[in-house]
Amino acid sequence: MNRPQPIEKMVEIVKKLPGVGPKMAERLSYHILKMPWDEVNRLIDSIQKARQTMKSCGICYNLSEHDPCPACSDSTREHDTVCVVETPQDLIAVSKVKDYKGLYFVLGGALSPLDAVGPCDIRVDKLIKRLKSGNISEVIIATDADSKGEITAVYLAEIIKIKYQSHKIGLWFARWRRY
Ligand SMILES: [Zn+2]
Repeated sequence: MNRPQPIEKMVEIVKKLPGVGPKMAERLSYHILKMPWDEVNRLIDSIQKARQTMKSCGICYNLSEHDPCPACSDSTREHDTVCVVETPQDLIAVSKVKDYKGLYFVLGGALSPLDAVGPCDIRVDKLIKRLKSGNISEVIIATDADSKGEITAVYLAEIIKIKYQSHKIGLWFARWRRY
């Protein structure tokens, strides 16, 4: 016996979320169907509100209600230092574990030759542009400690060195893992 059509549609959509396989999609869908109406409405509202109000900061590409984001518009931060992370979630994690007062840059992913993700698929050009226009003297590369993060860190270090041959720029690698 097949699942009723409305549930089938729901499972198909939930299955598209990252890390959610067919079994998990089915479990989540049936769980939502058992939830009280007020919780379902709060879930729908929170998704809609976050989707409608979050925008990408034009300077660092962090997600925020404001553009520029609070970090980029905070004059007390060190505006000559940039920490490069893969995702907005990484930015939040780094800001919590480190006593860091500089700015950030969100790459939007990591290089992955096996998945055909190259420098054009993440914000490498935008990072270089940012470094050139922002009078940056220190760059901390804080990509993930997995193989994609390592490849990305090595690539970024090389490309920054090439683009900044005549500039004095401090380049650091931060090794960390998000739990
Ligand atoms: Zn920003």
